[in-house]
Amino acid sequence: MSELRGVGIGLGVAQGPVARMAEPLPAPEDVPSTLSPEEEIARVRDAVAVVARELETRGAQAGGLAREVLEAQAMMAEDPTLDQEVLTRTAAGKTGEFAVHDAFARFRDTLAAMGGYLGERAADLDDVAQRVIARLRGLPAPGIPDPGHPFVLVAKDLAPADTALLDLDKVLALVTTDGGPTSHTAILAREKSIVAVVGAAAAKDLADGEIVIVDAAKGVVTASPSDDELSQAQHRADARRTAASAPITPGALADGTAVPLLANLGKPEGAAEAVELGAEGVGLFRTEFLFLSSSQAPTVEQQAKAYTELLNAFPGKKVVVRALDAGADKPLAFLNDAHEENPALGLRGIRSLRASEDILREQLTALQQAQAATQADLWVMAPMIGTVEETEYFTTLCRDYGIKTAGVMVEVPSAALMAEKVLGIADFASIGTNDLTQYTMAADRLLGSVSSFQDPWHPAVLQLIGMTGAAGRTTGKPVGICGEAAADPLLAVVLVGLGATTLSMAPTALADVRATLLKYTRDDAERIAAAALAADGAASARAAAQAAADTVA
Ligand code: PEP
Ligand code: MG
Repeated sequence: MSELRGVGIGLGVAQGPVARMAEPLPAPEDVPSTLSPEEEIARVRDAVAVVARELETRGAQAGGLAREVLEAQAMMAEDPTLDQEVLTRTAAGKTGEFAVHDAFARFRDTLAAMGGYLGERAADLDDVAQRVIARLRGLPAPGIPDPGHPFVLVAKDLAPADTALLDLDKVLALVTTDGGPTSHTAILAREKSIVAVVGAAAAKDLADGEIVIVDAAKGVVTASPSDDELSQAQHRADARRTAASAPITPGALADGTAVPLLANLGKPEGAAEAVELGAEGVGLFRTEFLFLSSSQAPTVEQQAKAYTELLNAFPGKKVVVRALDAGADKPLAFLNDAHEENPALGLRGIRSLRASEDILREQLTALQQAQAATQADLWVMAPMIGTVEETEYFTTLCRDYGIKTAGVMVEVPSAALMAEKVLGIADFASIGTNDLTQYTMAADRLLGSVSSFQDPWHPAVLQLIGMTGAAGRTTGKPVGICGEAAADPLLAVVLVGLGATTLSMAPTALADVRATLLKYTRDDAERIAAAALAADGAASARAAAQAAADTVA
């Protein structure tokens, strides 16, 4: 057997035969057109219109998030700037195929250079170009294979048009060689709970029909697995199904210690599903996701409407809303459009809010209005707090605006190291393990080449979490976790052992975490956490925690 590493999305495990997605069409050659420029541009415009309508129809069939994504792709196809670029090339005597290929590629490179969310939209543009060129050549659009039996789909990176119409009865798992945790493949895999490993470059060598195990929890694809590995994977998949169908109870340990399980959300529309999956409230509402494509700051009215809709879904429950977290992986031009060499270390989070305090004040106004208009228990927190002074600044401002509960995210090691002082001021802390890992390990969370450092199991990260948990106990303040680490069931037990009082995660992860917490008492959790803390690296911490957990089960 051999193991291919990538980034796992969710916690599932699946196995089956590989079916590869057709390779992209070869790039058109730059040969002179035999048609007039007018004829060429007319062919292209026809093809673009057909492709755009096809994407919209697919979107309408798929509904939900896929619809938004596909409609955005259709708009991209008909973007007037792109049309102009194609026109310039056909006017210079290029073929329609080459003009589309070249103009879209130029636009794509611009997007890719922006990195982050916009960079990952580059794949969408490639997909549109491929569809238009296929149409011009009279070929079928590239898409999902149909081998006639269930399969593990292996592709370079899936375009929204493909993921939207995946037949979930046939696709056992997704593996991509490109794309990161914020690619469309990842977003839609999360939304539809499809087992997926993205960015596994070595998957390019997998052959059609080859049996693989796709383990999203570990971010590993196993080629040529042994019978033993196949039956272990099957056992885990069965246990997961049982956990998913278990009755939904409030999050708790085996000894009855309550550990409320909350949802991470980016849009109010996600609330209904979160409630259905047993979320006891919201532990992180990422407000910047509402405004990622806006060039201007949202108005107080727009914001109040969205926050009210969210809070209305959780009457009497806790809802933690994060102030706009601009910068690095979440660009918001209206808060910071400066070019920075190291944007993760730049004017992001609370720093950018402070630099545009009027925007922060408007957000707090909208939040206060939503608080007054609803029955939910609103908590508001600031992203990327690094100092006690920033804590003081943010919580004072919140109180000026009538926000009842004001806290901070612990994402920067300095905040964890100063946790006792920070929590002396803030009403609560929520640990963002994604950024805390990035900053502790000095590894950009968007950079595939350093992804092995991006592991929240590292004892250095666990120590900082433990310090924050201890400060929570000393000051009597709640300390939640809202990074991806909370969605890893065994790590969730460790986090509780380190002092976390609530765990917040993607709603699809709730069932696994709920079932796992119920197996251990608080004493067990503390012992398992101590075993992980004593290790000297991420892999050995996970192994030590697993060994300590195995002595309980
Ligand atoms: C985190 O950093 O862990 C976090 C929850 O915030 P985000 O992933 O949105 O940066
Ligand atoms: Mg963060």
